[in-house]
Amino acid sequence: MHLPHEQRYSETHGNTPYRRMGRSGLALPAISLGLWQNFGAQAPVATQRDIIVAAFDRGITQFDLANNYGPPPGSAEENFGRILHKDLRGYRDELVITTKAGYRFLPGPYGEGGSRKYLLSSLDSSLKRMNIDYVDIFYSHRYDPTTPLHETLGALKFAVDSGKALYAGISSYSAARTREALQVASEIGLTLSVHQPSYSLLNRWIEEEDADGDSVASVCAEAGLGIVAFSPLAQGLLTTKYLSGDIPTNSRAAQGGSFSRSYVSQENITALRALNDIAVERGQSLAQMALAWTLRRPEITSVIVGARTVEQLSENLDAVLDLEFTDAQLRQIEATAVD
Ligand code: NDP
Repeated sequence: MHLPHEQRYSETHGNTPYRRMGRSGLALPAISLGLWQNFGAQAPVATQRDIIVAAFDRGITQFDLANNYGPPPGSAEENFGRILHKDLRGYRDELVITTKAGYRFLPGPYGEGGSRKYLLSSLDSSLKRMNIDYVDIFYSHRYDPTTPLHETLGALKFAVDSGKALYAGISSYSAARTREALQVASEIGLTLSVHQPSYSLLNRWIEEEDADGDSVASVCAEAGLGIVAFSPLAQGLLTTKYLSGDIPTNSRAAQGGSFSRSYVSQENITALRALNDIAVERGQSLAQMALAWTLRRPEITSVIVGARTVEQLSENLDAVLDLEFTDAQLRQIEATAVD
């Protein structure tokens, strides 16, 4: 059993700002911890535990999961559940635990997508793996063109009405699909509270306007949906580790999974070096500046970082020590960043 730091919510120790998730009553830490890749069966359990308790000791209350996180799928939820019940027992009410369903989890016709059958059985199995009664946020992990939105959002409504989830969200929906989802949600009496898209200095799709003049950011702002941004470090690209052009053996790029080695391109390295110069001038690491930049927009409630070590986590959390940018710095960054 871990004894959480008494000063975790103080400005002197935790120093974590909390932001209201859209128009909901829920406040989230500006930086949250995601368990996509470093909390599976192969990752050392002691390190997983150290990262999770170090996060909570700094006032990080939100832990982001999904049915398929691992590898193998499901193992991150199992590991998180074990750590929660062993090391953070008694602190469930101080935590925001999220999960999602949408990507392939089981073989066969009910193992992915947006059907009621898949979403609700997946939520039940996520709760069992984590050994908890409810999650704080349940997401439709992706838009499923083969399932009517009424059905997908109806399943989210059932999850909330039955007390298995407190808030409902969507992830990676385009601006048009987000608009549609908001319309359907209002028809069925569901409050959608949050959107979880990717967003970083190297990936600004949520700012781009579609043919109707809508962007994910503008639709969310107008509807009062919080935005929780994933992969704010572009899976580690926005750190100093690839600046030399080499790929460290223990890095995500070396594993050859979600991170393609082609991201470490000459074009990206040139941009990353220029960004690093700006960060150094600000007195921040590149990772810290990248997180602060993502948080500069008021629509962004929280950024979810991944961390493989406690040191990475601590560096990332210190981004909140300087969230201000001068206009000149923003212009310099604009001129540097590639998408
Ligand atoms: P990041 O962009 O934060 O990338 C995390 C990786 O960056 C780490 O594993 C590590 O890689 C590297 N890193 C992090 N901090 C540092 C540092 N300070 N110095 C050096 N390297 C660092 O986020 P993720 O891509 O992991 O995504 C974060 C979370 O977002 C996920 O865990 C998940 O919860 C959520 N997510 C949601 C998705 C969705 O569809 N809704 C999709 C993807 C993610 P290395 O191992 O190389 O050291």
